[in-house]
Amino acid sequence: MLESLGLRGACASPYREALARLAEAAGMSKSGVFGVFGSKEELQLAIIDKAQAIFMEEVVIPALSAPRGADRLLALCEGFVRHVRRMSANTHRWFFAYALLTISGCGAARGTSSETAPASCLLDLTYAYDDETIYWPTAPSRFHKETLFYGETEGGYFYGAYEIATPEHGGTHLDAPIHFAEGQDTTDEIPLQRLIAPGVVIDMTDAAAVDRDALLTVEHIEAFEGLHGAITPGTIVLVHTGWSRHWPNAERYLGDATPGDASNLHFPGISEEAAHALVARQVAAVGIDTASLDHGPSKDFLAHRALMEAGIPGFENVAHLHGVPSRGAEIIALPMKIAGGSGGPLRIVAVLPATSCEGR
Ligand SMILES: [Zn+2]
Repeated sequence: MLESLGLRGACASPYREALARLAEAAGMSKSGVFGVFGSKEELQLAIIDKAQAIFMEEVVIPALSAPRGADRLLALCEGFVRHVRRMSANTHRWFFAYALLTISGCGAARGTSSETAPASCLLDLTYAYDDETIYWPTAPSRFHKETLFYGETEGGYFYGAYEIATPEHGGTHLDAPIHFAEGQDTTDEIPLQRLIAPGVVIDMTDAAAVDRDALLTVEHIEAFEGLHGAITPGTIVLVHTGWSRHWPNAERYLGDATPGDASNLHFPGISEEAAHALVARQVAAVGIDTASLDHGPSKDFLAHRALMEAGIPGFENVAHLHGVPSRGAEIIALPMKIAGGSGGPLRIVAVLPATSCEGR
């Protein structure tokens, strides 16, 4: 497969040669690719400056080192194609060239690996609503489900229906921007582009393991970007603290499960500075695997306020983040569409790249 794309030789060569071979493999002329720029040198410099690290680390190296390199390449290509389609026409030129190369590689890859493993799989990041669902200690009620009818009807057919009720902010749920920012979007007003988008997972499990009140810092974000590339506008950022291992034990998950008392909570969250750094990156939404974007001891909810004043929604009590790669997943986070709501039950799912699908 790699040979048929001309990639094996390309990856072993200097990257200028790789560019030429990719263009060749897709039936494009080099001048067609280079023509996007004023000169070949300008293209090369732009790629070196902006895209080389991503290209080498996320496409070339994984494609050669992963057990199923062709599938890895295909998944990455498709992820980037989706990303590129969202970008506006005046996107920086380096990204346009990168897109051309990626799309050309994908066209060839799609034709040769269709009989092998699927290019993606689905992972549910949602806790089911039931009697154990964790709510904020001051919530006036919990998940309520009452049977309206269950069994055989007089007409001889089976019928089942329930009545449900829940506070908006419990279980895996949405925080609409209006939750902490007057005049911002309500649940039904949030643009779908904020709810369905490429996702990154920032791992802060080490910090949370030694400090129940650990905060995501700007340094965590910058370290992530150093390893995995910049967090681009329109990305859904998911913060992984490892807290799902405590679910559904409310005492361990919240730090204190005394009903009606939220004064002694202890769990990790996002610092105000980190929230502002995510606002500056124009992220689509921010999710976390704890009960709140702010950490347990917070009394002023500065992370909530910073994000929501910028119109950025939150996802809380997100499950199974250990199964989502740092980069490469597509996130679909669709809440119940409550008119005028400040949040609501959320079904959040990750579309994983093929390399994260082993054993699923
Ligand atoms: Zn909430």
